[in-house]
Amino acid sequence: MEKGHAHHHTGDFDARLTDCRVPEPVRTYLSRCARFHSSPAPGLLIGAFMVDYALELLDATTEEKLFAVCETPKCLPDAPQVIAHSTTGNGRLKVLPIGRFALTMNKASDNPTADGVRVFVDQDKIKQFPLIDIWFSNSPEFNKHTMGNDLQEQIFSAGRKILSCERVRVPVTFKEQWKPVTCPSCKETVPDYMVVEGKCAACGPMKYYAKI
Ligand SMILES: [Zn+2]
Repeated sequence: MEKGHAHHHTGDFDARLTDCRVPEPVRTYLSRCARFHSSPAPGLLIGAFMVDYALELLDATTEEKLFAVCETPKCLPDAPQVIAHSTTGNGRLKVLPIGRFALTMNKASDNPTADGVRVFVDQDKIKQFPLIDIWFSNSPEFNKHTMGNDLQEQIFSAGRKILSCERVRVPVTFKEQWKPVTCPSCKETVPDYMVVEGKCAACGPMKYYAKI
């Protein structure tokens, strides 16, 4: 749990949720997401509404095994992690660096494909909500210090009104069979399908640290 400062903000946030009469279960989702994320970031809040909408379209409960793909790494991925337990760790969340504020969800399937739903922020619908519009378009008119709370309230009252959905079919990825390969460079072991040009990726294109 967060301490001190963060708690104070969480309290304000929960009060605003109550004031705005956000209905359950999305109210609890919003609150849990904000805690997990360590702040009630606007994109995360919209994400909670998106997951709630996707669950309803799939006729799914949060107890079911659900898969999610987020089309942006910003904020959104925490919503399916917290609400639907689709996490990067359990392999049920994929984050694609596309940059669209969209999420696809589907139930588990034994077939090579699964039918799911794609929920996205709709550029036309967002126009009815000026603050969300200027925040979403990264306009210099938006000032997070003076407009942050009002933006939150607009997100709460907009809910799904800024979202659209479509039915989609996605490929099902099965667990890969693998054998261990020892990297000749670092001597650590990686699954064979992750070897890049005879080495582990960290000794190749994914090198991300220098030894000190
Ligand atoms: Zn290596």
